[in-house]
Amino acid sequence: MKISVLYLGRLECRKYHLIECEDHNEMIKSPIMSILIERPTLGNVLYDTGNSPYYSTEYPPSTLETYPVAEFISIEEALKAKGLTPADIDLILMSHLHFDHAGGLKYFTGTKAIKNVLVAEAELKNAFYQAMTGQVGAYVKSLFDLEGIRFQTINGETDLADDLRLFVQNAHAPGVMGMALKTRSKGNVIVTSDAIYTRESYQKELPPGGPINKTKKEFYDNLNRIKAMEKEYSAELLFGHDYDQVMEWNKNGVIE
Ligand SMILES: [Zn+2]
Repeated sequence: MKISVLYLGRLECRKYHLIECEDHNEMIKSPIMSILIERPTLGNVLYDTGNSPYYSTEYPPSTLETYPVAEFISIEEALKAKGLTPADIDLILMSHLHFDHAGGLKYFTGTKAIKNVLVAEAELKNAFYQAMTGQVGAYVKSLFDLEGIRFQTINGETDLADDLRLFVQNAHAPGVMGMALKTRSKGNVIVTSDAIYTRESYQKELPPGGPINKTKKEFYDNLNRIKAMEKEYSAELLFGHDYDQVMEWNKNGVIE
């Protein structure tokens, strides 16, 4: 198995939206990433797709105001740098369906991957429910209600291979799909996605300060579960929006 962390630009927002802090004017860089997994038997698997190229008109103004897009790199460009096109992707895993993860799905319309999109069942239901009841926020219907798209859903834990386990977290959103990966060079890696945004949030046990979590309890319940998993798997963690970490893993290239 080969894993590459793809850097897809960044949002720049007030830090308290990601990590509780006193100074509400403090800013933070929030990187957008995708993970390319090249694995015999599964093919080319992509975890998340980044922002939409039409973010400035497609996202609600309030979303853009809270989470301004400071840099945009399309998933198409990032794949090109790996010698791939959207048509080369066999399976798309969606951590969840928020705008900064689902925005690049449109690059896959007409490809085999769009018929093979895996997401947590609770997340799919919530995304359509919120979009169809006019709740303006992180779910933008035009990003995931695409021509020809076919979702497959998972619940709980699902093994796609003996070195690739998916697990559903009920924090940040109703069904945030994390991954546990087994690599030769780095050992086990657990991908938390946005259920834990950054290393600082994890180490200092600080939940997001903004309105993203309904309660802090879901953050702490999940944090405890990830801490137990970290021990059980002796794993290294890869967080959802940690700028330094994404830049480092991106620079280090392919993990085998
Ligand atoms: Zn996100």
